[in-house]
Amino acid sequence: MFDTLSDRLTSVLSNLRSKGRLSDADIDATAREIRIALLEADVALPVVRAFIAKVKERAKGAEVSAALNPAQQVVKIVNEELVAILGGETRRLNMAKTPPTVIMLAGLQGSGKTTLAGKLARWLKGQGHTPLLVACDLQRPNAVTQLQVVGERAGVPVFAPEPGNGVGDPISVARRGIDEAKHAQHDVMIVDTAGRLGVDEELMKQAADIRDAVTPDETLFVVDAMIGQDAVTTAEAFRDGVGFTGVVLTKLDGDARGGAALSVREVTGQPILFASNGEKLEDFDAFHPDRMASRILGMGDVLTLIEQAEQHFDQDQAEAAAAKIGTGELTLEDFLEQMLAVRKMGPIANLLGMLPGAGQMKDQLSQVDDKQLDRLQAIIRGMTPAERSNPKIIDGSRRKRIANGSGVAVREVNDLVNRFYEARKMMKQMAGRFGFGGGGGGSS
Ligand code: GDP
Repeated sequence: MFDTLSDRLTSVLSNLRSKGRLSDADIDATAREIRIALLEADVALPVVRAFIAKVKERAKGAEVSAALNPAQQVVKIVNEELVAILGGETRRLNMAKTPPTVIMLAGLQGSGKTTLAGKLARWLKGQGHTPLLVACDLQRPNAVTQLQVVGERAGVPVFAPEPGNGVGDPISVARRGIDEAKHAQHDVMIVDTAGRLGVDEELMKQAADIRDAVTPDETLFVVDAMIGQDAVTTAEAFRDGVGFTGVVLTKLDGDARGGAALSVREVTGQPILFASNGEKLEDFDAFHPDRMASRILGMGDVLTLIEQAEQHFDQDQAEAAAAKIGTGELTLEDFLEQMLAVRKMGPIANLLGMLPGAGQMKDQLSQVDDKQLDRLQAIIRGMTPAERSNPKIIDGSRRKRIANGSGVAVREVNDLVNRFYEARKMMKQMAGRFGFGGGGGGSS
């Protein structure tokens, strides 16, 4: 569902990649494009404004990290701000100290409440709870039957008014639901309430009365993500009319632009707890702001990668190595240090697997052999400090000694030395082209 936004943001941010340094003008231009992308995705204007201001301020500020280039730093900032507007930490359900925990669902008709009741019941059951569904939507014909159908599919009992007793009073059903939950020892009860087509005062009052009768531990506002900007106004009306402690986004599988997801939490101040993405009961999960942000930025799990880089790379060492790359002075000693830092981050295949698009290169990834890196390390360790800092002195007899000492063939030592020269030459040329490190193109 975030496809368009994701494409736009990815392309805006990848335009930065070729830049060695970012000027304030670069940041302003990027911020403008991000703003357009968010507005096109139907994100509420105040949310867009706050977001852009924050990104700009941080990008122009002094957040410098030697492990990241300027473009990566902007990606990191945009990601962190996306996580923040999506709610920051994953918010878990509040469970009552004395069961039953009461969860009440509220929202417009058709938002997916009844379906959600089944999904939530199934999910809670999977976590070892013993939920009871309570049918308080007595307004819509068939609502009770529909709840009974999803309840059966979820393998969870439904408490409903006896058929033939007339329409019944949803408030009394809610109250009796609590008695039933206590009596049959259900530790959670999920109350499905009547929806409304638009914001309707009478039904809003009914929801508020049910709320007062059952004093829920959680009131979840269920909202169809496909209604775009309307999600925000509806959320505000429910916040004022009934009040809620959390949001559930439904129909995330639909062809929506994603604005609702990005606005509702910021506008109402209440966290998104769950996301529904299909008609089947299993199309449902807890909402994780960080994973959603990552998905929006099409980033795979680059963040974990960035965090690991920050943890394992020594800033001074990384800066010194970058400067040497530019002047073509990189030595085998530097190479060894960088290699050791990379190895500390875990298996190479795992690192590469965190990159976007890694899904399409599974076969190649399975062939990455960490042992090869370990062999390279062994060869470099077999060299004297003088040889590491000036590989030119490694003549035939030295190569033989190194090979013997590190248990490899002379051919492998030759390979390493030759590849090192080639890599150094290439890095120097690239550094010249992208204007960092102070070096120009040329031979080693
Ligand atoms: P209620 O009126 O709020 O109880 O809404 P329902 O649970 O009856 O859902 C309305 C319609 O939306 C039904 O046809 C559901 O199958 C469908 N629906 C609910 N959740 C989702 C979802 O996450 N994705 C999709 N594609 N359809 C959904």
